[in-house]
Amino acid sequence: MTEVKPYRILLYYMYVPIEDPEAFAKQHLKLCKELGLKGRILVAEEGINGTVSGTVEQTDQYMRVMKEDPRFADMVFKIDEAEGHAFKKMHVRPRKEIVTLQLDEDINPQELTGNYLSPKEFFEAMQEEDTIVIDARNDYEYDLGHFRGAIRPDIKAFRELPDWVREHKEELEGKKILTYCTGGIRCEKFSGWLKKEGFEDVNQLHGGIVTYGKDPDVQGRLWDGQCYVFDERIGVPINQTEHVVVGRDHFTGEPCERYVNCANPECDKRIFCTEENEHKYLRGCTHECRVHPENLYVQEHELTEEDVQARLKQLEEETAEA
Ligand SMILES: [Zn+2]
Repeated sequence: MTEVKPYRILLYYMYVPIEDPEAFAKQHLKLCKELGLKGRILVAEEGINGTVSGTVEQTDQYMRVMKEDPRFADMVFKIDEAEGHAFKKMHVRPRKEIVTLQLDEDINPQELTGNYLSPKEFFEAMQEEDTIVIDARNDYEYDLGHFRGAIRPDIKAFRELPDWVREHKEELEGKKILTYCTGGIRCEKFSGWLKKEGFEDVNQLHGGIVTYGKDPDVQGRLWDGQCYVFDERIGVPINQTEHVVVGRDHFTGEPCERYVNCANPECDKRIFCTEENEHKYLRGCTHECRVHPENLYVQEHELTEEDVQARLKQLEEETAEA
C-alpha cells in the first residue's frame, strides 16, 4: 500500500484572456500567501502559468477557488505528491507572455495550434515511420531525460527554436512532426508556430511529459532518464517500466543524474556530477572555475587557501597518473 504524502505540487496553465495582469498578479499573490502556498506563477494578458506547492488541504482549497473563477473553470491541474514544499518563496509576476518564445509575430494557441495527442496516441505515433520527434525544451532539460530518439535542437533557449527549425526545414518537410515539453504549455505555441510556417502534420503531446508518465496504459514507456522540473526536486521519474540514465558526469563521463551549478558564480553552468566529484573538483567545471576567487564551494566548506591548493595538487597528480 502506498501512503498519501502530506504535500502536493501543482503544475498548470491556461491560455485565456486576463485583463490587467498587474492587478491580477497582486491580488493573486495575496490569495496564495493567505493559503500558505509557495511557488512561481506568471500572469499575462494571454493567460496564466503556475507551479505551486502546499499541503493537501491548501492545494485543494487553491484548486477550488481557481475553478470558481469562470475563466479557470476548465483548468487542468497536474498533481504530484511530495514530502514538503518544493519552493522557498511565493511569487506571482506579470509578464508579456506566460512562456517566452519571443516570436516576431505572436501565436494565439486558442486560434492556431497542433493536433493534441493523448499519451497512448503519442506513444504509437513515435514508433511510426517518417515521424520526427522534436524536444521543445532547453538543452539542459533534454540532457537529464528525453524520449528515445527525440531530436535535441542545438539551442540555448526556447526563443531560438524558430531559427533552428528554419535551418532544418528540409529534414522536417513531409514528415509527421511530434513535439513535447514538460506540461504542454510550450508546445501550444510552438506547434501553432510550426503550422504557420507551413508544416502540415503537426502534433503535440497533450498534458506534456508529466501526464505521459502518469498514464496507466503507456506508463512512461520510451522515456529515458528523468524529467527536468523547475522546482527543488530538479528531476522526476517518468518511465515506470525501466530507468535508463542518460546524464553523464561532467568529469568522468559515467552515468549520472545529479545536477549541480558550477561554483564559480560568473559561470553558474549546470553540470552533472557525483557527490564525490563535487568535492574532488571543488564543484568547478574548469580549472579556472575551481580557482575563481569567489568559488562558492570553497566558501560553503570554509576551505583555507592551503586546503584548496592541496586538492588541486591531488587532482594534478591524478591526471598525471592517468
Ligand atoms: Zn564553470
